[in-house]
Amino acid sequence: MVGSTQQKDKEIQQLLEEINNLKEKLYEKELLFSNMLNGMIAGNWDWHIPKEYHYISPSFKELLGYQDYEVPNSPDAWPMLVHHDDLQAMVNKFNEHVASHGSLPFDHEARFIHKDGSYLWIQTRGEVVEWDKKGKPIRMVGNHANIDYIKSSKIKVQEIKQALVDKTKRYELAANATGFGIWELDLAKMQCIWDDNMFGLYNLPIQKTPDHQTWLNNYVHPEDRHLIGEVIEKVLQTKEKCGIQFRIIRTDGQIRQIKSVVLVKLDEAGHPYRLMGSNIDITKELELERQQIQSHQLKQKNKELEQFAYIASHDMQEPLRTVKNFAYLIDKQYRDQLDDNAGRYLQFITDATTRMSNLVKGLLDYSRIGVEKHLSEINCNKLLKNIQADLKTLISENNASIQFDYLPIITAYPTELRVLFQNLIVNAIKFKKKKTDPVVKISCQILNNYWKFSVEDNGIGIAKEDQEKIFIIFQRLHQNNTSKGTGIGLAHSQRIVGLHNGKIWVESEIGKGSIFYFTISHNLFNS
Ligand code: ADP
Repeated sequence: MVGSTQQKDKEIQQLLEEINNLKEKLYEKELLFSNMLNGMIAGNWDWHIPKEYHYISPSFKELLGYQDYEVPNSPDAWPMLVHHDDLQAMVNKFNEHVASHGSLPFDHEARFIHKDGSYLWIQTRGEVVEWDKKGKPIRMVGNHANIDYIKSSKIKVQEIKQALVDKTKRYELAANATGFGIWELDLAKMQCIWDDNMFGLYNLPIQKTPDHQTWLNNYVHPEDRHLIGEVIEKVLQTKEKCGIQFRIIRTDGQIRQIKSVVLVKLDEAGHPYRLMGSNIDITKELELERQQIQSHQLKQKNKELEQFAYIASHDMQEPLRTVKNFAYLIDKQYRDQLDDNAGRYLQFITDATTRMSNLVKGLLDYSRIGVEKHLSEINCNKLLKNIQADLKTLISENNASIQFDYLPIITAYPTELRVLFQNLIVNAIKFKKKKTDPVVKISCQILNNYWKFSVEDNGIGIAKEDQEKIFIIFQRLHQNNTSKGTGIGLAHSQRIVGLHNGKIWVESEIGKGSIFYFTISHNLFNS
């Protein structure tokens, strides 16, 4: 019992102490407040309205840099002292106060002009204290408070706020334009806040941000989860920003590559309390980069292959020539000593070496395509006339006719274009129908970005299933019994067309002839 009374006393004593403390605090605050007010009050005024006498305290005049006598004690002082942009509003306030018979306060903030031309923000408060019987104001008293510091601070705060709004807007615009997602992670609660773009990256509806662990378990690729822990550890240790690349799994199942920069925020004691970061989806860029590397590697490999083919075919010519020469010498010098079989075998050797020599030569030409290419203007009519002249023997032996309409002048690689036309014309004659004189028609169509040429013949034609095969190197449908050839011509032609950013294809029917089409880009200067 005694114990519980003592306990109560102690509690009461404690409460009293607390009340006293609070009172003291309140007193301190009140004192501070009144000091502040006194400090702000810069003067007072007393206006006898009908007498047009207007007392303005010298201390206020002094605040504005004037001696007492320099400012008249009359309402005329106002237009002289108040910034002219603020004067009308002040007059309006006064009129409202009078019209409401004092129920609307006269309380106005305006810029007052200092003698030196600068201005100060002054709060003017007043009240009509005497009215006549008709309700007209007779006397009004009030005071001025120097609120310049407060007002400037307010303006400063406003400016800072505006700058913040502008910056935020700019950030939002930039973030939206670049697709950056911004996140923050509260380290104490391990809770995240995402901006809208972050939800977009994960294909999530904009809602509550998933907490860190949920995000890690559901949206980060399992093989990359350890990277997140590592980067957080690194940032916390070094307190410097770190970059990281990891894969995420979106809600639609797509796996995307994300690049993130992580920053740490430190409190006043220098302890990390928050992580911030930007995320961007770089999947497309990586894919592009991968394709570029692949295409570069492919080009490199092709170059090496071409070089190999060139060297191999070039070096093969020499031993071939030797075989051919010695076969010739044996035939010439030892003919009498050889029987018929040996003679036939020698002939086989000569034929085979000739054929091989042609193949090797074809390969050599093929590997040289585009090596020393120079673009120039080509008059296709002239070019075809020259080819016709070169093929004079073949044409007359086969009683062939080469026909072409008026062909354009184009920009192309001259040597290569010549080989291309020649290959197609030679084939058109070579693969003629029995007992039919070959007729080869060449024409050209202008399309949007291409010239489309056609070389048409009335030859044996090509079966549908062979129409793609024939462009593969060494592919021949008709072996040497009917025509001579190496099977390189069309592969060669395809590479030449490729060099001109074009395509080559054939439309044909067995027994009815073929039309070979190829295109040449109008704009080869940028390729
Ligand atoms: P080649 O003419 O040396 O055999 P090509 O690469 O020029 O080699 O042609 C490949 C094959 O395509 C030829 O062997 C032939 O079977 C077929 N071909 C090409 N042009 C024609 C054509 N105008 N008419 C029919 N077949 C053709």
